[in-house]
Amino acid sequence: MCRIRKSVLNLPSWELPEEPRAKIRLDRNENPFDLPHGLKRELFSELSRIPLNRYPPAFPTEVEEKIAETIGLSGENVLLANGSDELIGLALKLFEGDHVVISSPTFGIYSFFAAVEGLKVEDVPLGENFELGNVEAHAQNARAIFICSPNNPTGNVQPRKRIIEVLETGAPVVLDEAYAEFSRESNLDLVNDYDNLIILRTFSKAFGLAGARLGYAMASEETMEHLRKLRPPFSVNSLSLTIASFMLDHLDYVRKIIRYIVSERERLYRALRPYAYPSEANFLLISFDAYEFLLERGIAVKKLSGRLKGHIRVTVGKREENDALLKALDEFVECI
Ligand code: PMP
Repeated sequence: MCRIRKSVLNLPSWELPEEPRAKIRLDRNENPFDLPHGLKRELFSELSRIPLNRYPPAFPTEVEEKIAETIGLSGENVLLANGSDELIGLALKLFEGDHVVISSPTFGIYSFFAAVEGLKVEDVPLGENFELGNVEAHAQNARAIFICSPNNPTGNVQPRKRIIEVLETGAPVVLDEAYAEFSRESNLDLVNDYDNLIILRTFSKAFGLAGARLGYAMASEETMEHLRKLRPPFSVNSLSLTIASFMLDHLDYVRKIIRYIVSERERLYRALRPYAYPSEANFLLISFDAYEFLLERGIAVKKLSGRLKGHIRVTVGKREENDALLKALDEFVECI
């Protein structure tokens, strides 16, 4: 019998919660809007011309350059992959170091990929207001310090000043900005100043393309030259590349949806204020557990655990979905 690597033996099997059978899905931080009919027809007509018997480009340079143009960087700074999840895995193969630093409560995949690489996870929990703790104390020999901003599931951003302080340690920093389009902060320019920085963004949230699995990393040209070697050729399929390119040609539509979601988020926040935390993402953290109550009324939200036991995370939906949520929560709050 061949021996399974110890780091893999010790990995837990995937245990994703059963898909809730709810009419309103506010549990996965997805964008509530699929492409409108007209745009979808246009896109599908482009997709129908793709020869599926042919490989995509080995390296999706064209789309990377198109992304770079929209964010004011160069194509050399950008790496596209199958969702930013995949890039989290690749980022952990790049630098030397024997542990990763996370700040709980945060996105669980960081610890998963650390375990895949056989790395120790050092947790420096977020402070009382979910601010970053003293991660610098764990910087020495770190393979990566993960900073999630806006953070999933708390919704807050870490101030740029704090991010720079961590970068100044010289340790590798993976700044996960999956929700940045919903916030007022941008740190993309920092990749030109710090070789130890990798920023991750995704098409899954603001762009509403979770089904296409597209994420991108940004780093200095020097760092990217090496990160690029770790992505297998042909890894982004031709359908997804066409979808990404199409959406980049329709940024006005994307921006309109972002404005809608931000305005609905603020409406939900005001309505739920004593219980809702401020958020710069497309979801809100709520300080009571109405998970079952909402599910019985056809609304799925995310039930949280650990330090956030007794909390739920609610994704901002369409106006009418948010109205249904508020109506149900009004009822719930009367009972607590
Ligand atoms: N980072 C964070 C903080 C996330 O919440 C998610 C998705 N839940 C991802 C990354 C993964 O994004 P993608 O769909 O691009 O893999």
